[in-house]
Amino acid sequence: MSSYSSIYLTAEHLAFRDSVARFVDEQIIPNINQWEEDGRLPPSLYKQAAELGLFGMGYPEELGGYEADPFYKVLSTIEIARAGSGGLLANLFTQDIAIPPLVLDKQHPLRESVCTAVLTGEQRAALAITEPSGGSDVANIQTRAKLDGDHYVINGSKTFITSGMDADWYTVAVRTGGGGAAGVSLILVPRDAPGFTRTPLKKMGWWCSDTATLYFDDCRVPVANRIGPENAGFPFIMQNFNSERLGLAAQAWGLANTVFEEALDWAQQRQTFGKPIIHHQVVRHKLTDMRARLDATRAYLFEVTWLIAENKAKPADLAQLKNQCTDLIEYIAPEAVQILGGAGYMRETKAERVFRETKVLSIGGGTREIMNELAARQHGWL
Ligand SMILES: Cc1cc2nc3c(=O)[nH]c(=O)nc-3n(C[C@H](O)[C@H](O)[C@H](O)COP(=O)(O)OP(=O)(O)OC[C@H]3O[C@@H](n4cnc5c(N)ncnc54)[C@H](O)[C@@H]3O)c2cc1C
Repeated sequence: MSSYSSIYLTAEHLAFRDSVARFVDEQIIPNINQWEEDGRLPPSLYKQAAELGLFGMGYPEELGGYEADPFYKVLSTIEIARAGSGGLLANLFTQDIAIPPLVLDKQHPLRESVCTAVLTGEQRAALAITEPSGGSDVANIQTRAKLDGDHYVINGSKTFITSGMDADWYTVAVRTGGGGAAGVSLILVPRDAPGFTRTPLKKMGWWCSDTATLYFDDCRVPVANRIGPENAGFPFIMQNFNSERLGLAAQAWGLANTVFEEALDWAQQRQTFGKPIIHHQVVRHKLTDMRARLDATRAYLFEVTWLIAENKAKPADLAQLKNQCTDLIEYIAPEAVQILGGAGYMRETKAERVFRETKVLSIGGGTREIMNELAARQHGWL
């Protein structure tokens, strides 16, 4: 269980963190190595997570959710990260990047059935924005949806899509109008839509999270499946990115803290030259530097979480926080592997897995460069 405290955390927050910690200790940590090797999570895990309240936090009650400030999300992410697998977080919480636009569209005929099925862990949902031609320039997507009577006919492809093989529903960004952001719509596509196929991708890390390329070849979807008004998808996508970035920041901090703890424990046990390696000044100073940066970054993470809770956070805050946390893990993970020595290169340590998972965090959900660009523009520096 994590032991940090903060002026922002109430007794309710800490009680929730404890219940998540027990779930992680009992259900996840004993199995995660096998799930990573299997490349998937057991179907029962989604229902267990939903029952614990991990899926419903912050969603409307009528859809199976409950009121919860963003600290609940951050604390549970950090707690689950103690298993040392970002793939677990990416897979388990894909719906958090997929269904928020649908939740906002209160007139959508599938809103209640799909959101309820997803938030109870019965079904899964994915978000499909990125295309083979590029992910950073979201306003320039090429996948096109043309009206044909009461259907859209979709043609194009999406790639690097988390839960792309296994999802039941896909929130897909398509071009319904002219060029640029003003021509983008979101459409909810079921996995069995005619003309919709998928192929799996192999990757450096996040092994227990499936990633896929999606193909739409004259794929027919009812017009009623469109989320929000036609050509109004871009603001939904941008709003969505903000909560995704908070999740990725918390994930980066949690994983960095986990491998720090593993390295500290190792440094206290491992003996060289007749003493534990923490008694070598270089090693303990390395650990002190790591701890200082972890503590400073957590203060920033909680400060921005509080700004979100108060409705005061700007997209620049989320962009800068994401970079701060992903820079942190890119510094901490290699240092942890170094302290573990050869063991840090072996499959059984958390440091080995987290080391392979660092880069995805500064690429997914908007790259490090795009985060800086977004923040600089929002500050009005240009
Ligand atoms: C494991 C994984 C899971 C993912 N899951 C999903 C998902 O579920 N759904 C989804 O839609 N996408 C997903 N993505 C895609 C991810 O969001 C994109 O990879 C990311 O947005 C970058 O797009 P790209 O890979 O096409 O890189 P590009 O956009 O081609 O960029 C390549 C490089 O150029 C830099 N660059 C681009 N433009 C600029 C600029 N203006 N200024 C400076 N530098 C620039 C980028 O920072 C980057 O370093 C996932 C990616 C990975 C790796």
